[in-house]
Amino acid sequence: MALGAPRRGLLMLLMALGLTQGDPVRTSWEQLINCTCENPHCRGPTCQGVWCTVVLLRQEGGPPEQLRGCGRLHEELCWGRPTEFLHHHCCYSSFCNQNMSLELQVTRTPPEEPRVDSQLPLVLGSVLTLLALLGLGALGLWHFRKREKKHWVLHSELGESSIILKTSEQGDSMLGDLLDSDCTTGSGSGLPFLVQRTVARQVALVECVGKGRYGEVWRGLWHGESVAVKIFSSRDEQSWFRETEIYNTVLLRHDNILGFIASDMTSRNSSTQLWLITHYHEHGSLYDFLQRQTLEPQLALKLAMSAACGLAHLHVEIFGTQGKPAIAHRDLKSRNVLVKSNLQCCIADLGLAVMHSQGSDYLDIGNNPRVGTKRYMAPEVLDEQIRTDCFESYKWTDIWAFGLVLWEITRRTIVNGIVEDYRPPFYDAVPNDPSFEDMKKVVCIDQQTPTIPNRLAADPVLSGLAQMMRECWYPNPSARLTALRIKKTLQKLSNSPENPKVIH
Ligand code: ADP
Ligand code: MG
Repeated sequence: MALGAPRRGLLMLLMALGLTQGDPVRTSWEQLINCTCENPHCRGPTCQGVWCTVVLLRQEGGPPEQLRGCGRLHEELCWGRPTEFLHHHCCYSSFCNQNMSLELQVTRTPPEEPRVDSQLPLVLGSVLTLLALLGLGALGLWHFRKREKKHWVLHSELGESSIILKTSEQGDSMLGDLLDSDCTTGSGSGLPFLVQRTVARQVALVECVGKGRYGEVWRGLWHGESVAVKIFSSRDEQSWFRETEIYNTVLLRHDNILGFIASDMTSRNSSTQLWLITHYHEHGSLYDFLQRQTLEPQLALKLAMSAACGLAHLHVEIFGTQGKPAIAHRDLKSRNVLVKSNLQCCIADLGLAVMHSQGSDYLDIGNNPRVGTKRYMAPEVLDEQIRTDCFESYKWTDIWAFGLVLWEITRRTIVNGIVEDYRPPFYDAVPNDPSFEDMKKVVCIDQQTPTIPNRLAADPVLSGLAQMMRECWYPNPSARLTALRIKKTLQKLSNSPENPKVIH
């Protein structure tokens, strides 16, 4: 490997993690405003961002301190999340943070010590974990210039917990360095297991950002960097096991697939806790994003294309030492697609995925009793005609679901000034939390597909998307588009002369 390659790799990882301090990404729907800037990262007395913010922090053992700055610096504390949880405030007009003041509330003893503290004696007691720590230390010495890191204690507004927040210099990502190719397992996408365990035990949970059918997702902090921690409920341990297995056996690093960091299983008060730690994306899921955001056609295309790139990478088998088996997702939906800060999508939740490799003709279906989300089930799943022994069948069901995700995107796209509210697929045909029978009646017996908005015909790109949806929804599964065809068609649409504005 050339000398510069690890640094370049690191930079790319940092960019993927959204940790580099570049200019804010500007999109047509964002207006930059000036803010008062008084924090250690400020380059001047003002900064530009999407919003201004005031954060109350206290250096370890020191007095509380108010820091002012731009949303972009503190966005993990603000974006689309319940802001009352942390002691901070965001506002949205120029210099609105100048005279704003926050006061420290009385903090009670935290109900639970941060995991890093409570687990430390155990970690040190374990010879194996100690070895991992030594390994980490050695890696640290080898990889990083030593930089002084400031330790902050951040108090929650409700006084229910206090967490240690270590701020690192912008762009100085320990996670990025750790995930650099030199210290990954080689076979899978992850770190060696002992390092994964060590990282997991150093994560402090900050705020719950989502609840799914089978668990919760938290924003956590690892050495000052935000990470997402999915905590699986014990009845969904097979999803944790499957996702852990896939990330650790398959090389799955791709811009449009959620980046894996670590997996961990701990025993706590006689119950088992299952964690999956991944990159954190502050916009949340595509479902969350579409609730808040209407889209210009070029942003709709960008979201669709990046999601299609992720799906095509999952579906394709790559041969050779750096290869991967073909993977079908089986629970594709807008809640399982995340929106990154560069407004590209990445695909998450591999708990139900199946793998296939042509050479050995081995189909690995896993052992998960969970089924996909009923609303997104293809007709052949609902009428139980799917050929479960044929890998292609699973890819075809992903394409059906992808068409539904495209439909959700297009409803939120503005054409000639017209846009619709967010709705889930089949909102007008089935009740909330539809049963298998509800879905079967609509999709198999009545053969309904979602209504494609008429206005799409007025835009060359969106009429392309409309046609694509129809071809994802053929009742005959093998007649549907492939993920590769979808990706290529979207690339063509984005390069077409009528649409010169798409930002890649
Ligand atoms: P479901 O897919 O059933 O909604 P999940 O447990 O997978 O449940 O996720 C719950 C929610 O947590 C998501 O809809 C999303 O809002 C949020 N979320 C999940 N993963 C991340 C992540 N890596 N970064 C930020 N938010 C996330
Ligand atoms: Mg999910």
